[in-house]
Amino acid sequence: MKSISRRALVLYSIILLFLAGCGLLFFNLISHSEEWAMNKANKHLYNSGSLATAGDILDVNGEILVTTKNGSRSYNDDKSIRIATLHTVGDSSGYIASGVQSAFKNEITGYSLKDGVYNLQRYGKGNDITLTLNAEICKVAYNALGNYKGTVGVMNYKTGELICIVSTPSFDVYNKPKDIHTDTSGKYEGIYMNRFFSGLYTPGSTFKIVTAACAVENIPDIYEKEFVCNGKIQVGEGYVICSATHGKINFEEALNKSCNCAFAKIAEEVGNEALTRTAERIGFNGLGFVINDKINCSNSKLDLSNAKLLDLGWAGIGQYTTLINPCQMLTAISSIANKGFAVSPYLVSQIQTPNGREILKGETIELGQYFTEMVADELNVLLRSNVKNRYGDNLFPGIEMCGKTGTAEISDNSEAKPNGLFVGYSQREDMPFAIIVIVENTNSSMSSAVPIASKVMKAIKNEYTQ
Ligand SMILES: [Zn+2]
Repeated sequence: MKSISRRALVLYSIILLFLAGCGLLFFNLISHSEEWAMNKANKHLYNSGSLATAGDILDVNGEILVTTKNGSRSYNDDKSIRIATLHTVGDSSGYIASGVQSAFKNEITGYSLKDGVYNLQRYGKGNDITLTLNAEICKVAYNALGNYKGTVGVMNYKTGELICIVSTPSFDVYNKPKDIHTDTSGKYEGIYMNRFFSGLYTPGSTFKIVTAACAVENIPDIYEKEFVCNGKIQVGEGYVICSATHGKINFEEALNKSCNCAFAKIAEEVGNEALTRTAERIGFNGLGFVINDKINCSNSKLDLSNAKLLDLGWAGIGQYTTLINPCQMLTAISSIANKGFAVSPYLVSQIQTPNGREILKGETIELGQYFTEMVADELNVLLRSNVKNRYGDNLFPGIEMCGKTGTAEISDNSEAKPNGLFVGYSQREDMPFAIIVIVENTNSSMSSAVPIASKVMKAIKNEYTQ
């Protein structure tokens, strides 16, 4: 009897070990299969470590941005389009992590857990990805940026479609600079980063839109108030400096002229809590967007938890520790254009298998009311008056442009040049587009960011309106 039970025990142990082994094997298969299939030594997908065989990426008009020809990736024939769309499309080596070729690696190679790279072997290609991006508009934005580092983003404020994303510095995938990894001058700084999705910038006076929104929400007689600007104003323990001496001005003029004294006072009046509340409702201090569930964005930050009164004054004019992510800021501006209602930005409109089956469809995702319709209407009037009375409708002919500039000090070092920003949108029904332009190390937003916005919006008007 004893020997039988001992034999049974041994047998059970063997069975248990076998099952555990099977489990481990299965676990490994599931958890590593993607890694094994996607390994750069996999000759079905990669050639000398570069993505070789995969589906096409097309722009909104069906323009092929990248395809596979003779076993390697072949990019658009137009050099400017190749450079302008590099950060969105991504490079074949995967240096640009947020590029579609990296972020949608499984989809574009047609990889699936069930079939591995079977589809790729069967059809000779992966799935095709159609973007919301308009390559021609990207080209205009890239050329307008010239030698500046920075970013331009344009979004349809009703649908969330991103039609333009450009990040500079960029490079031509067919002629990658040889000194890209050895240069120490800083000219390639952040070259693999898509500044639109991953960048964080001091907003400067573009943040006055948020402070103005908070004022409209919390100060009932804000339009009757009179502010006095003598070029500087005492807030708490110190002074906030203005760019000019504006004298006596009202709320609308203060926004038109971007008076720091008025907005530091407004920030002081609304206080830390209300300003934080308004900012957080429109996405500050959150988790950041994940575009099409794949591409992570950095998120805007406003931390007034330890702010003294003077810090609050500076925060109200977009300085202190305030940081914006271009994609998040564009979404917030878009909501003002769209009666206060925010939609999530997206980039991929469709993914299609080689036999024509749609496996992903990009759609408008509602984020909800960032501002009440009444507050949005008021901001709409104020932002329209900025362009009409300050920047000039001649820069945006027939566009019914709204907007706000910003010149952001990024360092205490007086030698360092500030960044120039512009955010805005067209009020035209047939042109529902909002834009953000950020130009690094420039003298003024009026001479850098505004002319770039002007060129891009004019190109959009030509393409999208009758
Ligand atoms: Zn002033």
